[in-house]
Amino acid sequence: MKIIFATGNKDKLREIRAIFGELGIEVVSMKEAGINVDIVEDGTTFAENALIKARAVAKASGLPAMSDDSGLVVDALGGEPGIYSARYMGEDTSYRIKNANIIERLLGVPDEERTARFVCAAALVLPDGREFVREGAFEGRIGYEERGENGFGYDPIFYVPEKGCYSAELVPEEKNAISHRGKALREMRKVLEELC
Ligand code: IMP
Repeated sequence: MKIIFATGNKDKLREIRAIFGELGIEVVSMKEAGINVDIVEDGTTFAENALIKARAVAKASGLPAMSDDSGLVVDALGGEPGIYSARYMGEDTSYRIKNANIIERLLGVPDEERTARFVCAAALVLPDGREFVREGAFEGRIGYEERGENGFGYDPIFYVPEKGCYSAELVPEEKNAISHRGKALREMRKVLEELC
């Protein structure tokens, strides 16, 4: 079985191949498959956006297509930045600035109200029209400063109570084992195991 993953992100692709490779499923990127579609992510939830991407790629390729959509949900900010995580303060704004801004907006907010989670929705769309969505969440709290050099995006301000450190201080294997993306993709692997 061959699946096209709707991403241009090499790190994501490596993570996904590690999870699906052992099933004998070949995961190829849109670029490798020669698919070039403009996708407008105008859904209102992570699941909708993941489905929009997977549907567009399945339609363009005639092959099974998978995608994911993820972001950071901060409770004290009413769920922001949520589905706008990549676009928060502008797509080209550095994460140093985005992270500093979130910490500033939480000034005076006590520990117990700094709860947040990374959420990931993975979607699979088959050429016959069948659609599957699986979600994963990674619970934590917004810290008071940036810490750690690993990961990306909001990882340096995301404190993980169960590990006693920030997400950017976890090595990739540790993060994948408990992360939103790891959980959603492992759930999707179960779907594929049943389909294969
Ligand atoms: P996308 O799913 O590639 O569109 O990513 C959405 C955005 O959410 C990323 O650009 C990051 O801002 C944020 N995000 C998603 N997952 C993570 C993570 O594991 N660590 C840090 N930031 C993340």
